[in-house]
Amino acid sequence: MEPVPESFADKPLHELTAVEWEALCDGCAKCCLHKLEDEACGDIFYTKVRCRYLDEATCRCTDYDNRSVLVSNCIDLKGQDPAALNWLPSTCAYRLRANNQPLPEWHYLVCGDREQVHREGISIRGRSVSDEFVHPDGFDEHIVRWVE
Ligand code: SF4
Ligand code: SF4
Repeated sequence: MEPVPESFADKPLHELTAVEWEALCDGCAKCCLHKLEDEACGDIFYTKVRCRYLDEATCRCTDYDNRSVLVSNCIDLKGQDPAALNWLPSTCAYRLRANNQPLPEWHYLVCGDREQVHREGISIRGRSVSDEFVHPDGFDEHIVRWVE
């Protein structure tokens, strides 16, 4: 168990320091899954196809500092309009806080354990496939419902 950091879990997003902003992430890695958008209605569908730069075991980016260069649609959430964060999974800490909702009990800032997000089946650990092995035309065959 890790010590619970000084609480900032209830601070508005725009008041977070750079360090607090990074620490707010729950480590689920759902945002690193490829998504498909229904152009007619705008609905977003998550697939189980993950970005090749994600280490599925740790659910961490393997080149976080260069992510925006490596992957053109890897969005830096900081500075985004909170209303624009609604494409993120409903469990995402940034989306929750943007909507002034509390963090869930399995979030490590609440429970003090970074593994809880995996134990609870919130993260993508053990159930994704790298985009190195799936042609983009076939992403729709990998749409999943467990993200939401
Ligand atoms: S979905 Fe949100 S909380 Fe989960 S890894 Fe992505 S940014 Fe972090
Ligand atoms: S570059 Fe890193 S942060 Fe961006 S989608 Fe890929 S694994 Fe996720």
